[in-house]
Parts: sequence; structure tokens; C-alpha cells
Amino acid sequence: MASHGHKSNEPSPVRVGETSRRVGGFTPDGHWPNMEVVEGDSLNEFVCPACGAGAPMRLALPHPSLSMTSDGAILNRPLEKASCLRCGHGFHVTPLRPEDRDAMYSDGYDLGLVDPAADAARAQGYADCIDESAVTLLGRALRPRSVVEFGAGTGALLEDLARRWQLREALGFEAASQLVASAGQRDQAQATIRQGYAEEALGEIGGRYDLCLSVNVLEHALNPEAFLSVSRRALSDGGHVVVICPDGDVADTELLFLDHVSSFSQLSLRMVAAAAGLHVIGSIALRGQQKGFRLTLLNPDANAPQAPTDIQYLSLAQARSDFLKGWSEIDDGALEWLNNRPYAMFGAGEFRNLLRAYAPQLVKGAEAFLTDEPLAATLDDRPWLRANEYASTHPRTIMVAAVNPRSWPAVAGRFRGSGAQIVHPYLFSSFLKEQL
Ligand SMILES: [Zn+2]
Repeated sequence: MASHGHKSNEPSPVRVGETSRRVGGFTPDGHWPNMEVVEGDSLNEFVCPACGAGAPMRLALPHPSLSMTSDGAILNRPLEKASCLRCGHGFHVTPLRPEDRDAMYSDGYDLGLVDPAADAARAQGYADCIDESAVTLLGRALRPRSVVEFGAGTGALLEDLARRWQLREALGFEAASQLVASAGQRDQAQATIRQGYAEEALGEIGGRYDLCLSVNVLEHALNPEAFLSVSRRALSDGGHVVVICPDGDVADTELLFLDHVSSFSQLSLRMVAAAAGLHVIGSIALRGQQKGFRLTLLNPDANAPQAPTDIQYLSLAQARSDFLKGWSEIDDGALEWLNNRPYAMFGAGEFRNLLRAYAPQLVKGAEAFLTDEPLAATLDDRPWLRANEYASTHPRTIMVAAVNPRSWPAVAGRFRGSGAQIVHPYLFSSFLKEQL
């Protein structure tokens, strides 16, 4: 991670009272007790919900008034996050309320429906990761006979696992009705996907499963400790929990999502897991298309680790804040670099959505949007065109690559030699350049 020297815009740690009268921990409704007003002091007291430490760092805002959820919806609410200096946990300064969450995950939330082929490929990628990681972490293959998945989406991953492991039982829970309906259309399905939340069915699933799995769900949980506790209680004797979620030890785009309640460092996940009665056997940072995510393998254990006492995560907090600050610079940096020259934007996925929220002028200024296979004639009222054709008919054009940095080298290489000048938005930001 690039380090930056002192800057005038450096974020300041949230001020706290002399003594911390609170301990950490999530309350049952997902709120954490971090808003206690200290007597004689008008400032709020913030406490890390994972480890109970006070004085987290308040992170820079990527945009003064807007933020975005995972499905691309832009909200009139700034992204105010904080980072614990002791355990590295990232969290909202003002916790999301259950009603905020319910509004985000209405039936409009249909991430997995975008492209069935991509959904299946993604599922296979994660299944491979689970197989390989288990061998590395356990020294043997994971061969459960029954699996329950929380937040199963369209069920593509569970279906893959049911076949490759020849499962006796594969049950998934999914809150979004459209995803459940999509799962129901699968021919000869071996996995069952039910609508609802697993905690509501605990009496039925408790103690029954050799493996409880969740992929990119824990970071959304209003109460991750309760989520992991339900995961543990679903296990049969000798069972394991596998959690895949964004790797919070690295400052990257996962910080930009409003509905990411938690950014887990390895240590903060260990703290929250321990509170839920789970022990981390080990974890692995994933690579390739899963880069930026981490797989953690856990099993039940009553022993809680000591709360961290030193500020070993100061540099992570600073890196996160620099990253978010970097996003706030993209619009102005682009204006200067582009200097009124016309440009098109390559990419129409998640990264473009992030730019719509945090660098709106850059997206508004694009003459056209380019992808390999346009899905409509227009996008945001601009022409949506085939990238190769555009590059060959517009020599010397400027293309702004709205792609995740993990895809940037391949995209840049592809258009090199086409005559087009391709540039990534991170190059417009003094803080983000080095991330490419
Ligand atoms: Zn902490």
C-alpha cells in the first residue's frame, strides 16, 4: 500500500472522552452502542463494534453528499465510515438501521440476475476457491455431506457444490424473492433455495449441517456477531463455517458501498467470530477474479482471544482514508486532464456505477458508453456502442476505462495499438495512481 506523508486534509481520529465506559458488541437489532454522549462534552463517543476499543479514525468522504449501494442505487447520504486503530475493523459512523437495510434490499435488489453465464462462472470460481482453500487450511479436502448457505442468491454456487460433493442435502436461504424465483427455474436442481432468513428457521436447521457457507453476505449483516452465531448453531458435530467476504486488510472498492456495514480485517473478523463462539482456523486471500476477497474457515470454540491493546492498524486506517479521499479527487482531476477533449467510457458494470456516485461529472461528460456486447441502444441517454467498432472508427479517441483495477492491465493491453488512448480514472487522482 502506498503511504503518503502528512497532508492538510488528513482525517483526525474521532475524539473521545477520557475513559471509555462502553465495551464493544453489537446489540440484537444490529445497532452498536457507539453514540454515548459523555457528560459535559457534546461529542459522541465511538467504540469499535468488533473489539470495543475507543478512538477510531473517521475516514475521508469519497463524495460530500452521495453514496452507493451494491446494486448501483445512489443515495443522498454521505459515506461516513470509521476505522478501528486496534483491530482494523471498518464501520459506519452512524449505524445503518434495519429500515435502511430493508429499503436497500427491496425487490429491486437483483445483483445475480444480470447475466446467468457470469453467475455460473462466478459460482464455479468460488467453488474452486473453497476446494483449494480447504486443502491448504485443513490439510485435507472438505467433504461435507450436507451444506446450508446463508444468502444463496440464485443458488448457482450451492448447485455447483451439491454436484461436485454429491451432497445428501443442500439448503440455501435467500431474502430477495426475485433471486429465489430464478433459482426455482433451474432444471433438475439438487439444491433447494428458500426465501427468508436463516435465523427464522433455526429450530429446523439447528445442529444439522456439516458446512455452513456464506459468500459476500457477512459484510452486509447489521449484526455480524448474530449472523455468525446462527452459522455456528446450524452445524453438526465436527462441522465447519466458511465465510467469504471482502478482504478488509486491503483498502479497495468494497469500502465504497453504503450497504457494506463491516470491513473485516483478519483480526476484527476473529474478534467478532469469537463473540459468536467460533474460532478462526485460518484464512486465505483469494486471487484472480476473486481478488479482493478472503476466505475464512472456522469451527466452534469457546475460547475468546484477548482484545488488542496497541494501535497496530493505524496504517490501514490511513490507507482506507487515503483511498476514499482519492475517490473524491477523480472528478476534478479528470476535468483538468481531459481539458475539454471528448471521450467515451469503456465498461457498464459495477465500477461505472461507483463512478456515477462518486465522480458523477466524469460519467455525465462521456459521449458514449462502450462494452463488448451492448445490451441496449442507449445507456443514461448516451449511445451504447460496441467497443471494438468505436475504437476502429474513432482513431485517437480517448477512452476512460470504468473497470476494476484488477481488470485494468488486460483492458489497457487490449486497446494498446488500436490508436485509442485509454486511461483509468485512478490516474486522475493523486492518491489512487499507485493502486494501478
Ligand atoms: Zn476494533
